[in-house]
Amino acid sequence: MVLVYSDNKKLTFELLSKGSELAKDLGKKSTALIIGKNDDLLANEYISYGADNVFVAESDIDSFKAEEYAEILEKVINETGKDTILIGSNKNGKELASRLAGKLNAGCIVDCTNIYLKDNKITTERVVYSGNAISVEQFNSKPRILTISSKVFEPLKKDANRKGEIVKKKIETGKSSSKILKIKEAVTEDVNVEDADIIVSCGRGFKNKGDIKLANELADVLKGRTIGCSRPIAADLKWMSEDHWIGLSGHKVKPKLYIATGISGQIQHIAGMRDSGVIVAINKDPDALIFKSADYGIVGDLYEVLPKLTSAIKDKMS
Ligand SMILES: Cc1cc2nc3c(=O)[nH]c(=O)nc-3n(C[C@H](O)[C@H](O)[C@H](O)COP(=O)(O)OP(=O)(O)OC[C@H]3O[C@@H](n4cnc5c(N)ncnc54)[C@H](O)[C@@H]3O)c2cc1C
Repeated sequence: MVLVYSDNKKLTFELLSKGSELAKDLGKKSTALIIGKNDDLLANEYISYGADNVFVAESDIDSFKAEEYAEILEKVINETGKDTILIGSNKNGKELASRLAGKLNAGCIVDCTNIYLKDNKITTERVVYSGNAISVEQFNSKPRILTISSKVFEPLKKDANRKGEIVKKKIETGKSSSKILKIKEAVTEDVNVEDADIIVSCGRGFKNKGDIKLANELADVLKGRTIGCSRPIAADLKWMSEDHWIGLSGHKVKPKLYIATGISGQIQHIAGMRDSGVIVAINKDPDALIFKSADYGIVGDLYEVLPKLTSAIKDKMS
C-alpha cells in the first residue's frame, strides 16, 4: 500500500528504507515507482534497496513537468490502490506532491523528519517555527501524501538477492497547458554540501572575502574540501554562491564533521546542520548560541585559531 517516488535515485533508496518498514508494520507491500522509460537495472536496484515490487509507468515525457507527473501518479494510484505515497522532498518533488494532493483532494504532510505507526495510524513529525518545535500529525483521510528530504532516513543495506515483481504499464497523459521551451543548466560551482562528509562553514566572523582562504586551508588538510556558509555570506555579502548556503532557507546537511567558524548559531542556521555527526564551533564570544549545539567549542579569534588548527591537523596527518 506504500508507493515511493523520487526523481533522485539516492533519495529513493532512503525513502524505500522507511517505506518498506511502514509497509511491513501495516502488513502490506512497498512499491517503488519509475516514471518514463523502462529501466530494468534501476528497477532491480530499487528491489535490492527494499522495494517489494516496482511499477514502471512508461511514458514518452522526456523531462519533468509537475503537471504531467502528477497526472501519471494519480493514474498509478487509481490503478494500484496505493494509499500511502512517499515523495522525495527536492525541488521537483515538492511541486509534484502539492499538485497531486490538490488533484486527489488528499492530505499532504511535508518534510517529515519521522514517520511511525501510533494506534495503527500513520503518524509524522516535522520541524516547525524554524526548529523551535516539532509538530506531530496524523491523517484524517486517504490517500496520504508525505514528503521527505534527503538524509532524513538511512538507506537499507543493498541486498542483491532480494526478489520482487516489476510491473510495466504505458500511462498516457492529456494535453498539458504549458510546454517547456528550453532547459538551461544553472551555472554552479563544483560543490555539493549535501553529500559532503566534512564541512568547514564560514559566518560573519570573517572580515573580508579573501580571509575565507583560512577555512579553505583547513578543509584542504581535512581532505574535506567543502566549504559551507551562513546566509549573510551567500545572500548579503555574496562572498560565496548559494551552493554553499546552509540553513533553513539554504541546504540541509548531515556531514560526519561540521566546523562552524564565526557563526553565531541562530536557529535558522542550526536548522540546516543540526543532524551533523560531530559539531565543532569556533567563536570569540563565549556566550555565542552556537556553543549550545556544538559537541566541541573553541572560544577564540578565528584568525588565530584556524591557522593553528590547520597546522596541528597537517602535522597529525603527515
Ligand atoms: C526566514 C529566515 C531564514 C533564514 N535562513 C537562514 C539560513 O538558511 N541560514 C543561515 O545561516 N541563516 C539564515 N537566516 C539568518 C539568521 O537568522 C542569522 O542572521 C544568520 O545565520 C547569522 O549569520 P552569522 O552567524 O554568520 O552572522 P552573525 O550572527 O553576525 O554572527 C557572527 C559570529 O561571529 C563571531 N565572530 C566575530 N568575529 C569573530 C572572530 N574574529 N573569530 C571568531 N568569531 C567571531 C561573533 O561572535 C558572532 O557570533 C535566516 C533568517 C530568516 C529570518
